[in-house]
Amino acid sequence: MSANLNWDVVITGGGPAGFFAAIRCAELNPQLKVLIVEKASQTLGKVLISGGGRCNVTHACFEPAELVGFYPRGANELRGAFTRFQPKDTLKWFEARGVKLKTEADRRMFPSTDDARTIANGLREAAQAAGIKVQTGTALLAVEKNKNGFRLELRGAGKLFNLQTKKLLLATGSDAKTQSLVQALGHSIVQPVPSLFTFNVKDKRLDGLAGVSVENVILKMDTITTQGAALITHWGLSGPAVLKCSAWGARILFDKKYASPLTVNWLGDHTFDSALAILHSNKDWKENARKKVATQPAFSQIPLRLWKQLTGFIGEKNWGDLSKAELRKLAQELTAGEFRIQGKGIFKEEFVVCGGVKLSEVDFKTMQSKLIPGLFFAGEVLDIDGLTGGFNFQSAWTTGWLAGNALAENV
Ligand SMILES: Cc1cc2nc3c(=O)[nH]c(=O)nc-3n(C[C@H](O)[C@H](O)[C@H](O)COP(=O)(O)OP(=O)(O)OC[C@H]3O[C@@H](n4cnc5c(N)ncnc54)[C@H](O)[C@@H]3O)c2cc1C
Repeated sequence: MSANLNWDVVITGGGPAGFFAAIRCAELNPQLKVLIVEKASQTLGKVLISGGGRCNVTHACFEPAELVGFYPRGANELRGAFTRFQPKDTLKWFEARGVKLKTEADRRMFPSTDDARTIANGLREAAQAAGIKVQTGTALLAVEKNKNGFRLELRGAGKLFNLQTKKLLLATGSDAKTQSLVQALGHSIVQPVPSLFTFNVKDKRLDGLAGVSVENVILKMDTITTQGAALITHWGLSGPAVLKCSAWGARILFDKKYASPLTVNWLGDHTFDSALAILHSNKDWKENARKKVATQPAFSQIPLRLWKQLTGFIGEKNWGDLSKAELRKLAQELTAGEFRIQGKGIFKEEFVVCGGVKLSEVDFKTMQSKLIPGLFFAGEVLDIDGLTGGFNFQSAWTTGWLAGNALAENV
């Protein structure tokens, strides 16, 4: 690329947010010269590895008020944004470009091909058709505001060069270097920390149970309470209830250096009292009196192998031989078992970082900086993150689309 070229719109970051913004902008205003610069050798790298290679594009939740409930950070700002572009619009957007989506039982939406390349190729083809120039292997190094917009310093093919652009969109994801550029421009960055991870829990009650799942548990960690399925892994715990807990508790766990007590109610909606009542009736039931507690579970929702380990403190005793104190201890173990988080593991299907550009400094109708006219943000560069299930891509589509509208306006 030759030096000192002038552009109407430069988009830094060839991820989903950057592509969506660029395409919207170029389709609305074909006169504009639009450039995407991407530091990696290919665009849309995360799309290609997302959702285990299937790309969980969005979530079939079409009510903005309900949808924002899936965002530990960004819910207030996204509420209005989702009234303008929401999962239904994402679905239509892709279908209009020949990419069909399907909805799974848990409302996650994937390309009907089950192949993330379908999404990446759909975006690349739409960008090409809209006349957008894409420059890979090119990193933004510095930004300077001037009277005509922004002067950018970039490095591509081992060379430093400059570009001038009227408008600049930063869609660089969680890239730490860009965050320091944003700070240098006067914006605040909320400290980035990981979200969506599994818990390392070393505990003999879980030993040898990797693969066992419980459909409905309640987890309590500090001030955070989450509910859903849990999966025992080789290293501890995973599954929806754990991932939700890691997302809502991302900052708390970071501050605690990923070491924290964790209370597990393996019986979901049961309380200590309701569980104790069932344990009492189990003991009083004559047919049960001579049956071993370990092999005769009182609750069908707990798999037998887990039941055996949770009742390990009772030994070989029969139901009829349990004391009141033992029944209470068992009710406690089942509804408020004490475990300890000793670290975080990787959830391979999805991973995001919370933190980023402070949301109060951005106008969510246009995604324009409130501090620097002509500067825009979209996607994970912002202090927004969602639970697993397609919510993170949805915020990239929505904020990208809104930015694209504003970028298309003539300057
Ligand atoms: C393994 C994995 C699986 C995931 N699966 C899902 C899923 O199934 N569903 C879901 O909703 N979310 C998923 N996510 C989260 C989702 O990928 C992100 O939320 C989303 O990609 C954010 O989009 P973005 O465009 O803001 O940022 P990114 O996708 O991170 O794109 C930013 C781009 O900017 C480029 N860049 C950074 N700095 C510079 C620079 N200085 N100059 C030039 N270019 C730069 C980067 O190379 C990158 O290509 C997953 C994440 C991971 C890691």
